[in-house]
Amino acid sequence: MAAETLHPARRGLMLILSSPSGAGKTTLTRNLKSENNLDLSISVTTRAKRPSEIEGVHYRFIDRAAFDTMRQHNDLLEWAEVHGNGYGTPRKEVEASLAAGRDVLFDIDWQGTQQIVKKARADVVTIFILPPSMAELRSRLIRRAEDAEEVIVKRLANARDEIARWNQYDYVIVNNDLQAAYESIKAILTAERLKRSRAVGLNDFVDQLLTEELP
Ligand code: 5GP
Repeated sequence: MAAETLHPARRGLMLILSSPSGAGKTTLTRNLKSENNLDLSISVTTRAKRPSEIEGVHYRFIDRAAFDTMRQHNDLLEWAEVHGNGYGTPRKEVEASLAAGRDVLFDIDWQGTQQIVKKARADVVTIFILPPSMAELRSRLIRRAEDAEEVIVKRLANARDEIARWNQYDYVIVNNDLQAAYESIKAILTAERLKRSRAVGLNDFVDQLLTEELP
């Protein structure tokens, strides 16, 4: 049998991006998903939908009762209260993607990240996106113009607490420039996908290479 008939496969990995609101993470996750063969985990949230958001695309918007039911039925892989609202990752879709060997991208906060890391460290890669400055973060939140003034004030105050968690992440990127940040994340993803520890069947592949007759 020729060596090229054996292709080492790989387990799906979970790529988690966290950052304070307004650091550019949402744009980054959208771009990454479309160009890098990733499944994006669509969270459920109890917060109100922003005008630009689409149900089922950005979030599944649910009420508190439905959120509590999902929690109680263990339908959430992780969940957290963020800015006074419930956010959570539906378990079923993520498990289906991973079982199919597909990678899953998450846009979740540090609390959710900790929960997923605790459950599956070997399959998780975490990236924290920092804003270039607090002034820039504020102006991005204002430019986005999708949140009320008091919500922006609350998000800025929370940003400090989130930023303080930066050192729990595998990688940290300062988002000075969206394109550069995107390229950095792609580089991380490429390298992590190639990690020896993630390969399945590599032993057999190499055994076969080594037993093949030299041409
Ligand atoms: P936003 O309301 O701006 O869309 O999101 C607020 C924060 O909640 C962001 O930091 C975002 O990453 C986080 N978030 C979104 N979905 C989830 C989730 O399913 N779980 C957790 N733990 N955090 C989430």
